[in-house]
Amino acid sequence: MESVAFYVASRPAHGGDELTVHHPYDGRAVGRTTLATPDQVEAAVAAAAGVAAEAAALPAHVRAAALDHVSRRLAERADEIAALITAENGKPVKWARAEVGRAVSTFRWAAEEARRFSGELQRLDTDPAATGRIALVRRVPKGPVLGIAPFNFPLNLVAHKVAPAIAVGAPIIVKPAPATPLSALLLGELLAETDLPAGMFSVLPLPNERAADLVADPRLPVVSFTGSGPVGAAIRRSAPEKHVTLELGGNAAAVVCEDWNSDDDLTFAAQRIALFSNYQAGQSCIAVQRVYVHEWIYDGFLPRLVAAVQELRTGDPADPATDVGPLVSEGAALRVESWVDEAVAAGATIEVGGRREGATYPPTVLSGVPKDARVSAEEVFGPVLVVARVETDDAAFAAVNDSAYGLQAGVFTHRLDTAFRAGRVLEVGGVIVGDVPSYRADQMPYGGMKGSGVGREGVRSAMDDYTDPRVVVLTGV
Ligand code: NAD
Repeated sequence: MESVAFYVASRPAHGGDELTVHHPYDGRAVGRTTLATPDQVEAAVAAAAGVAAEAAALPAHVRAAALDHVSRRLAERADEIAALITAENGKPVKWARAEVGRAVSTFRWAAEEARRFSGELQRLDTDPAATGRIALVRRVPKGPVLGIAPFNFPLNLVAHKVAPAIAVGAPIIVKPAPATPLSALLLGELLAETDLPAGMFSVLPLPNERAADLVADPRLPVVSFTGSGPVGAAIRRSAPEKHVTLELGGNAAAVVCEDWNSDDDLTFAAQRIALFSNYQAGQSCIAVQRVYVHEWIYDGFLPRLVAAVQELRTGDPADPATDVGPLVSEGAALRVESWVDEAVAAGATIEVGGRREGATYPPTVLSGVPKDARVSAEEVFGPVLVVARVETDDAAFAAVNDSAYGLQAGVFTHRLDTAFRAGRVLEVGGVIVGDVPSYRADQMPYGGMKGSGVGREGVRSAMDDYTDPRVVVLTGV
């Protein structure tokens, strides 16, 4: 099996120690690459710093053309890339295809934003002393960006670091997750086909300690991190003077409100919640983990939920009919199993579930879960859903907020006043009305409150983050 190149200052390279990538479903080796050496890391950082001024001055048409190129090439190679994502991550191929489609639009959207990202003209003559003055507010890249990505969307979450950086004219160094570097390396291959200046991007497989050194490097003033809470907190502590965006975990909740009560309503909510607590085996930061159901409809909802979960097909992620594949590793499945066992020991009931097989954990619904059990209070990151009966919609909203996290929430309601109330009171970065919390359009501001992070991603939000306003005050105009 040939070793796949990584990218140092826009050029393919091979490094030192080997990194073998395994298929989570059956453990077979599916790819090989190498880890970047300290000299290669230094070359990548020096090149990024060296090209920053040239990158900031790149015309919009050059940046947009590069982004459009990557978008087009991702679309052309979509089937191959989806198979690669499935092989390294284990997600069912239908979800891998969806991820490639999202990366296509992330790059296309970034190309469009690159064409219109201009800053603003601000009048200053609201104050008599500033009569005749006007401010030109330009957006200037802060400098090279360090993007650190997790395993669960190995292509699109790398795209969310890279595309906005190119759109604003900032060099970027990406560190993919050790379990899933291959999609990021393929993205590097497509970036290398563009006319961007050498040094504009690097993709570096690295052990975590060496990534931590990069976080501390003063030549990289922006760190965009997506991953788990403890690592995010460590990054923030080690780079207090930097601009750090943290996209962290969650225990996303859905509320099925009192008015969502027709047969069709209940079936729809049950099917959506069943699917989106289990898609990617629950390994999404906005997978549904908790659902609060008004007591008037609970007894109609629960059997529908159980039936919808039983209809999901678990198995080989390469099979287009598979809904639920393995977790990223057997260790991850063992952890989920132990959390479920712990909840059952504390009094929870398994409404539907089964036995773990290797890295594959069966879709599971639990009721009667104590609120401090880890399957409810922490991020389960597995195919496990906690369902609870509540007396009022407001009690459900309070339960949603009774969490250390706050990424997104889903509210099934037809009522405009309930939708607005949810948008006002829920302590989350996004409220999805009429659907599960697991919805993300790649252009919308996306991120969380509390333990779910700091700052927002989404192409335009990241472009704002990667730049500073620079004001030029014109006098006598
Ligand atoms: P992780 O925190 O273990 O790793 C994320 C990345 O950080 C990896 O590339 C890892 O190698 C790197 N890393 C680890 N230690 C580091 C250190 N000390 N310094 C610098 N980098 C370091 O997370 P994971 O298991 O890959 O991903 C799952 C987590 O990501 C979940 O908590 C999930 O909710 C979260 N996530 C959040 C979002 C979001 O947008 N909010 C999206 C996807 C995933």
